[in-house]
Amino acid sequence: MAQAVYLQTYGCQMNERDSEEILGMLVAQGYAVVEREEEADVILLNTCSVRAHAEERAFGKMGLMQKLKRERPGLVLGILGCMAKAQREEVFRRLPQVDLVAGPAEIYDLPELLAGVAERRQQGRLGASARVLAIDRKVRPLDRRPATDYRAGGITAFVTIMEGCDKKCAYCIVPTTRGQEVSRPLEEILDEIQQLARAGYRQVTLLGQNVNSYGKRFPDGTGWVGPGRRRALLQLGDRPEAAVADAPRLVDFPALLRAVDAKTSIERVRFTTSHPFDAHGELFRAMAECRSVCEYLHLPVQSGSDRILRAMRRGYTAESYLEQIAHLRALVPHVALSTDIIVGFPGETEADFEATQALMDRVRYDSAFVFKYSPRPGTEAAGWIDDVPQTVKERRNQAILELQARISREQLETWVGREVEVLVEERNRRGQLMGKSRRNTTVVVDGPDPLIGELVLARVARVTDTTLICDVVDRAPLAG
Ligand code: SAM
Ligand code: SF4
Repeated sequence: MAQAVYLQTYGCQMNERDSEEILGMLVAQGYAVVEREEEADVILLNTCSVRAHAEERAFGKMGLMQKLKRERPGLVLGILGCMAKAQREEVFRRLPQVDLVAGPAEIYDLPELLAGVAERRQQGRLGASARVLAIDRKVRPLDRRPATDYRAGGITAFVTIMEGCDKKCAYCIVPTTRGQEVSRPLEEILDEIQQLARAGYRQVTLLGQNVNSYGKRFPDGTGWVGPGRRRALLQLGDRPEAAVADAPRLVDFPALLRAVDAKTSIERVRFTTSHPFDAHGELFRAMAECRSVCEYLHLPVQSGSDRILRAMRRGYTAESYLEQIAHLRALVPHVALSTDIIVGFPGETEADFEATQALMDRVRYDSAFVFKYSPRPGTEAAGWIDDVPQTVKERRNQAILELQARISREQLETWVGREVEVLVEERNRRGQLMGKSRRNTTVVVDGPDPLIGELVLARVARVTDTTLICDVVDRAPLAG
């Protein structure tokens, strides 16, 4: 009988996509995917280490799964992803029943790793000597990416374009857990997107920790890293054809966007995340000129204080960030903006915090994700005193949420009476049709089920704090 696998995902969209690839590989090996832990022979958690909170949730969940294993000793338990890499010792100490620990760079080895667990059991090994550990790779071998796939939905899809992160933000564990940056070849990405478009998908979200580094390093060692990079890229300019035909290994992110727009029939393209350090005019021009690329940019600022930005090693100032936003808005007038903010970074004073609020007031983001600083062992900032008390972090967190809620509502109200293009994605629990505008705002419309998966034109009748309530005007997408 087929082995049944249950997989739970924590953390970012890259983890969600990794989980789809993992399930794709396992299904190709004959595993059946189940929705309940009780039905599983193999329970895998794909984990996140960005904040202590995410780790604690995974530890708690696996703790419960260990109880299940006491009743069913044949059960295989695996911790995958960032926590496996960052917290190996803790995993061994707190989760002695776990059979498999594999980092983000090792996900393509999973079928062999699970076979290794089975073999050790057959040999009668027990406890720690039966455990399989795989966390040593520095780079994910993207050239070993499996052809098989397993995707949820059928309307929107994630497409990973690169792995890893070469930045060294002082607070962040990701470069340690996900390793060095490596990009997927352009042709492979274009093929995948075109296959998705042919299969009926309407939107793709291109994923990377910093998509603006796309093309720096490919699995075969080529890329624009090193001397001559600027010159070579300038020669390519706005010519996606050149990027594909003449210099396949000298393509950067704006050229990738142009190539996706010109060479595939996907209707909507989103991407995340853009680091402000290397989001520049060429990216903004590509956003303005590519019809399929949605008018939405997630550009995490983290703080509005130059002192804190310097300590975070972000590589930009509040003023240079604001200049980028002005440049973007000049080229893409109705662009929606979102950000990540960390409150309570070591040394953050009331004045630093006020600078963050002032920046948010000036940018007027459409939405923001706020995080209380959480020291991550192994990062540069973990060596500094975590001197902002928890109560102050909480107060600042709340103040940012309230500020953003007010701005978001005001931004939404400016849309009443205007028309938006909506990709209808599902029916919510209240029976309403839900979708997203090009600017990534949640939209509710009335209509029959066949609208699910369609691009429709809708007029905004009213708004709630987070949603546009619209009437469908036309079942065809906006032109131009
Ligand atoms: N690569 C993306 C970038 O640089 O914008 C972000 C990736 S990170 C997984 C997502 C967000 O988590 C970051 O933008 C940051 O705001 C937050 N984050 C990362 N490390 C953190 C920490 N130690 N404490 C609190 N928030 C953190
Ligand atoms: Fe972390 Fe900075 Fe890399 Fe983003 S760019 S993943 S915040 S190190």
